[in-house]
Amino acid sequence: MNSEEYQGVFKVAVLNGDGVGPEVTAQARRVLDVAFALAERDVAFREYPFGGSAIEEYGVPFPDATRVGCLEASAVLLGAVGGPRWDEVPPEVRPERGLLQLRQAAGTFANLRPAVQFEALVGSSTLKPDVVRGVDLLVVRELTGGVYFGPSRRYELDGVETAENVMRYSENEIIRIARVAFEAAQRRRGRVVSVDKANVLEVSRFWREVVTALHSAEYRDVNLTHAYVDSTAMMLVRDPASFDVILAPNMFGDILSDIAGALQGSLGMLPSASVGGRVPIYEPVHGSAPDIAGTGRANPCGAILSAAMLLEDAGIPRIAGRVRLAVAKALSDGFLTDDIARGASGVSTRGAADRIIHHLRHGVVADPVTRP
Ligand code: NAD
Repeated sequence: MNSEEYQGVFKVAVLNGDGVGPEVTAQARRVLDVAFALAERDVAFREYPFGGSAIEEYGVPFPDATRVGCLEASAVLLGAVGGPRWDEVPPEVRPERGLLQLRQAAGTFANLRPAVQFEALVGSSTLKPDVVRGVDLLVVRELTGGVYFGPSRRYELDGVETAENVMRYSENEIIRIARVAFEAAQRRRGRVVSVDKANVLEVSRFWREVVTALHSAEYRDVNLTHAYVDSTAMMLVRDPASFDVILAPNMFGDILSDIAGALQGSLGMLPSASVGGRVPIYEPVHGSAPDIAGTGRANPCGAILSAAMLLEDAGIPRIAGRVRLAVAKALSDGFLTDDIARGASGVSTRGAADRIIHHLRHGVVADPVTRP
């Protein structure tokens, strides 16, 4: 972000998407409005069609006007896309295709997924309260390389139908994502676990070498350890509170961040940011939740905590900390949506956001330890 943007209006491109996307994004927008006002900064929102709703109107999930609007913005706030209505359409015009096109256009190569256990929700996890209490970790996942983007093909090998995907990383790709992890650790508790499968994969041995060399050259203040992906998965379930920053290639990060997310008991709680490119993207981890769309019962916390990540990157971490505290306070007041209410009747999406906004306005003091 350049200094002009700091002086002027912070422009947010809003992609509501489908299902519960518009419902949770509306609440994140309300929080951002209050947060920017508290920081005495100007913010402007502009909505663009995206996902299934864009397919209905324009025949494609990521229309040109949306692309231009996103690239001109200071940040993108995204809801979620997809739904049964578009399950049968060809892959090139499916809503989820829009996500890939957006990430490519924005050039965001780093996906940040914090998992913070709120005290009020320790009983909502499938793990024992003593195991999840105090979890505060960040998965830094490489997003535009690795096996998801390597060459793939189907062919016949010795007369047998065969398929392959190539897992490939260049030195530059590893260095830039490792920097994101080391710098996040410097703002947090100073520890990085770099994940690989170096006992088996050449690409992992290279990943380990490059991460180690960068660490020795520039980030000696950070405590770096290496771990295999299988043992990291086990440790995430056994002792998740022991992690600070987890650095992972695309596919391993995809899997581990879902495990980290599951610790909290509901997908609806989880925020994410995709950064490192022309424009950052902030979105809850969950999908369009077609089963509850339109009921006004979706959990807005994932979207609101994504908005807190936006505030951090917009240069107002003190207010981002206040948003997180307001969420924690609303949860401990018992303003829980159905997904985290453990059988009790939950509050509405708007009701949960109202309580968060109440605490944001009326005064919780900034958390000095802001994340990620
Ligand atoms: P999902 O995340 O939409 O829902 C999984 C479960 O979690 C459902 O029971 C849902 O009700 C619940 N849930 C999700 N968000 C919630 C919230 N905010 N509050 C309360 N409960 C919530 O995943 P799915 O059902 O596998 O996928 C539905 C659609 O979303 C599919 O079309 C899928 O492709 C798409 N999807 C989109 C994204 C995205 O936009 N980034 C991510 C994942 C899935």
